[in-house]
Amino acid sequence: MSEKMEVQLAVVGGGPAGLAAALTASRLGIGVLLIDENKELGGQLIKQTHKFFGSHRHMASVRGIEIANRLKNDIKGDPNITVFIDTTAVGYYENGELLLYQKSPEEKLVSCFPKAVIFATGARENMLAFPGTDLPGVYGAGAVQTLMNVYGVLPARKILMVGSGNIGLIVSYQLLQAGTEVAAIVEILPRIGGYIVHASKVRRYGVPILTRHTIIEARGKEWVEEAVIARVGEDFKPVKGTERVLEVDAVCLAVGLSPIVELVRHAGVYTPYISELGGLVPWHDDDMRTNLPNVFVAGDLAGIEEATTAMLEGELAALSAAEYFEIKSDEIDGMRRDRKARLEELRASRFSEKVKKGLQKLVAKKPK
Ligand SMILES: Cc1cc2nc3c(=O)[nH]c(=O)nc-3n(C[C@H](O)[C@H](O)[C@H](O)COP(=O)(O)OP(=O)(O)OC[C@H]3O[C@@H](n4cnc5c(N)ncnc54)[C@H](O)[C@@H]3O)c2cc1C
Repeated sequence: MSEKMEVQLAVVGGGPAGLAAALTASRLGIGVLLIDENKELGGQLIKQTHKFFGSHRHMASVRGIEIANRLKNDIKGDPNITVFIDTTAVGYYENGELLLYQKSPEEKLVSCFPKAVIFATGARENMLAFPGTDLPGVYGAGAVQTLMNVYGVLPARKILMVGSGNIGLIVSYQLLQAGTEVAAIVEILPRIGGYIVHASKVRRYGVPILTRHTIIEARGKEWVEEAVIARVGEDFKPVKGTERVLEVDAVCLAVGLSPIVELVRHAGVYTPYISELGGLVPWHDDDMRTNLPNVFVAGDLAGIEEATTAMLEGELAALSAAEYFEIKSDEIDGMRRDRKARLEELRASRFSEKVKKGLQKLVAKKPK
């Protein structure tokens, strides 16, 4: 069964970027349809039980899950926002049709014709290929967090973590707190990728962080029983004779994220490859406008960063949608200046060097 609906603005993705975009658009008088494929709004935030870092102006010391709850409460009472959860946007066509597959309360297709769309579909985890990569017990870090923090299931007794970025470090710490032994964290680069404060926490538990090391094999009959690691040379290839076997029942891969670009590509948005932003990314300017006048992007989809930047980008995307609808005011101009200044402030740290380089490359890729 399929039904049709008219919408002013559709926001695809109910993570921090989409929630912030929907709330800002609604405040400016725009009617919003907010769509998320999960049964609950919040995106990655619902797994994040740790306190955020950074400045207090940007939610530092607040747990990710608490940020999600605050945003969700605001959405709940908002008469301008219609929420479709358990609903996947499966296509966006040249005639302006956004096709939705709704799984509940009744399974159906909804054909919707928004006048503008903000895509905030987030990112998916990168995987690594090695012998045994398909054994049960080889997880992505997002799956480990979901099992532990959303469903209360301990994913392993003893685990090897691959990747020492903030995700690898934070998930290792959460595993330790939940009672899993972390045999080691291996990192292929010569230095730890995440914040030292996170690294220190896991080191205090006695977990070795082995830089210039990688996983080369997972072994086991029906599930992971051992992981083989090795040191890598300058060429990032394993050095023969440095292999070590670790007895573990799981391997967790925290080796980066890639933006989920399928829908924006379907829409005709130009998506150059910028490795510093996570791979293929929708081209956008600093107001989150794409090469299509009525399509805007925000959050990890627009380049892998953080929830704090995702929310500011979501707000900027909503302000640009307002401009598209010819809604103008001094307040909007002021908000735009403020959100851009805050993004600049957040990106001032040395941890944002990579993102800043990526954004500069994106400017140079502006479509003619
Ligand atoms: C372990 C870990 C720790 C982190 N710690 C911090 C931290 O301390 N501070 C910080 O600022 N950030 C942190 N982050 C990063 C932060 O979680 C992300 O940057 C942020 O969630 C990105 O927000 P988003 O809205 O762009 O995407 P997401 O949160 O990924 O939300 C996207 C949503 O869109 C939905 N979706 C995708 N495609 C469709 C579709 N076709 N139809 C319908 N719905 C769809 C997804 O299911 C998801 O719900 C952390 C991340 C991880 C994994």
